[in-house]
Amino acid sequence: MKVDEALDLIAEIPDFPEPGILFRDLTPLFGDPAAFATVIDALGDVVGPDADVLAAVEARGFVLAAAVGYARGLGVALVRKPGKLPSVAARVDYALEYGTATLELPEGSLRAGQRVAVVDDVLATGGTVEATAKLVEGAGARVSGVAVVLELAALGGRARLAGLPVTALRTC
Ligand code: AMP
Repeated sequence: MKVDEALDLIAEIPDFPEPGILFRDLTPLFGDPAAFATVIDALGDVVGPDADVLAAVEARGFVLAAAVGYARGLGVALVRKPGKLPSVAARVDYALEYGTATLELPEGSLRAGQRVAVVDDVLATGGTVEATAKLVEGAGARVSGVAVVLELAALGGRARLAGLPVTALRTC
């Protein structure tokens, strides 16, 4: 299957979770084995050869990064929403396209000097990846690249992440 064909399965849900937001729903893509494999292979290709480990944002980032990590032979640092972790290495509060959020890095998930590729489903304002990058850098590691399925260009995430190599399978 071609990557574009797989990405065409992503649904667009108007006014979710708030009026004015066009929510990109990867559920149909996750549910289609050929499309899922195609997207995982494509993300695996854009995660640079120099990455030592992946960082994934709860929850859709987990699905993608777990499969990419398996395919590429890389482990995954699970960047979590608050209240889930018994032992928190660092916490960052940030603004979303809709609302605010907090992310936490589990103790022991990254080591100083590691090169970390961040994997997520959608890049919107870039706040989530920026917060993840702060957690990565706080652990003494560095972001080697950012791989996302969809980039919503109008929301300016790429500019906000200036200096980080961002690759999107589709920009819209
Ligand atoms: P941002 O921090 O603004 O770049 O938002 C990215 C994060 O929020 C990702 O983890 C996405 O899963 C989610 N997100 C933001 N906007 C959307 C959208 N329009 N459709 C689906 N997910 C979104």
